[in-house]
Amino acid sequence: MPDITKLYEEMGIRSAVLAFGRELEAGLKERFEEIDRTAEYNQLKVIHAMQENRVCEACFNYASGYGYSDQGRDTLEEVYASVFHTDSALVRPQITCGTHALSLALGANLRPGDELLSPVGKPYDTLEEVIGIRPSSGSLAEYGITYRQVDLKEGGTFDYDRIEKALNERTKIVTIQRSKGYQTRPSFSVEQIGELIAFVKRRKPGIICMVDNCYGEFVETLEPSDVGADMVVGSLIKNPGGGLAPIGGYIAGRKELIDACGYRLTSPGLGKEVGASLGVMQSFYQGLFLAPTVAASALKGAIFAAGIYEKLGFSVIPDSKESRHDIIQAVQLGTPEGVIAFCRGIQAAAPVDSYVSPEPWAMPGYDSDVIMAAGAFVQGSSIELSADGPIKPPYAVYFQGGLTWPHARLGILMSLEYIVREGLVKI
Ligand SMILES: *Cc1c(COP(=O)(O)O)cnc(C)c1O
Repeated sequence: MPDITKLYEEMGIRSAVLAFGRELEAGLKERFEEIDRTAEYNQLKVIHAMQENRVCEACFNYASGYGYSDQGRDTLEEVYASVFHTDSALVRPQITCGTHALSLALGANLRPGDELLSPVGKPYDTLEEVIGIRPSSGSLAEYGITYRQVDLKEGGTFDYDRIEKALNERTKIVTIQRSKGYQTRPSFSVEQIGELIAFVKRRKPGIICMVDNCYGEFVETLEPSDVGADMVVGSLIKNPGGGLAPIGGYIAGRKELIDACGYRLTSPGLGKEVGASLGVMQSFYQGLFLAPTVAASALKGAIFAAGIYEKLGFSVIPDSKESRHDIIQAVQLGTPEGVIAFCRGIQAAAPVDSYVSPEPWAMPGYDSDVIMAAGAFVQGSSIELSADGPIKPPYAVYFQGGLTWPHARLGILMSLEYIVREGLVKI
């Protein structure tokens, strides 16, 4: 084999940085084996679902116009329903992103006078406008749907007393966000989500439990729909698209809820019957096929990064030993220079736009400058190796993704290289 150290060096990683990474990696063997076992299980689950639903070459055909009897689309929805063990699913390129999928699932199943409850604290930023926590045109609040929130207890556990008090005759949907997103609370395991759902349903049978599953798919062998969730919702440019889906979102769940989502997405009376798949089906199927190993690569990258930065004395969430429930890694670098160097390193390791140097800028919707690193094949795809950080205390970067483990490793080594070159740490 040609000398890989030399190739790393040519790409900008010096031997001391590589050696630091190698030493750390040696200690991760057992962790990685556990991730591979989960990927093995999930890979079988996906193939089994494809076989059961008789996926065939015709599923990849181009469908246009109304899209009546679009075989590829209809079969894919059955495959998703099998993977998530639900009655039904809606998986469409017309669902533009994760926020849209969540907004659709809520809007389709809430009516004026109903109440939505989040028992896990503040939802993902973009949901604030969907719900109307921040006044916004077209929000659920404008349609007379109220919202209640119960914050987590110190340490990130569920506040069952307050949840019990918050449930009332108008509570129709309970929304549970699996991943911490860009907050500092822990992400929830599927088991924890199952306990919360069981609690809520004992108090109020018939309530709809929806889980925002973004970044969580295939991280464990169970999904929230295996433990009582009535709808699970996510984005195809995160885990389940496997890096190949160029757009899209999914909602899997109970038939009547998914039918309602279909009527909301297209039109009352038309529902799931229309919506041509326009040639993206092969990437949806192939992306789902790859998703279990892609999620595993991203997880390995997250654990590797946690280990590296922890060893250098930075605070990392989750830490390198904790069990993982999503693919996001936060590293508190403590200085603006640290955040910038980290992101520039990730960018420099990308297959696309590697020559670009990201700069902090005043992005709409944020209260400080933000720097983002993304050299992705699909714009904004965060299952591809990407990082971003607001330029404000505690100067943390959030990083996620990596379609392959060797690329994730390269990205993290490059981030370290940039941080070392800036003189911010010594190795
Ligand atoms: C990414 C994400 C969303 C929103 O998805 P977009 O595709 O960015 O609209 C919602 N919830 C969580 C937890 C997420 O990670």
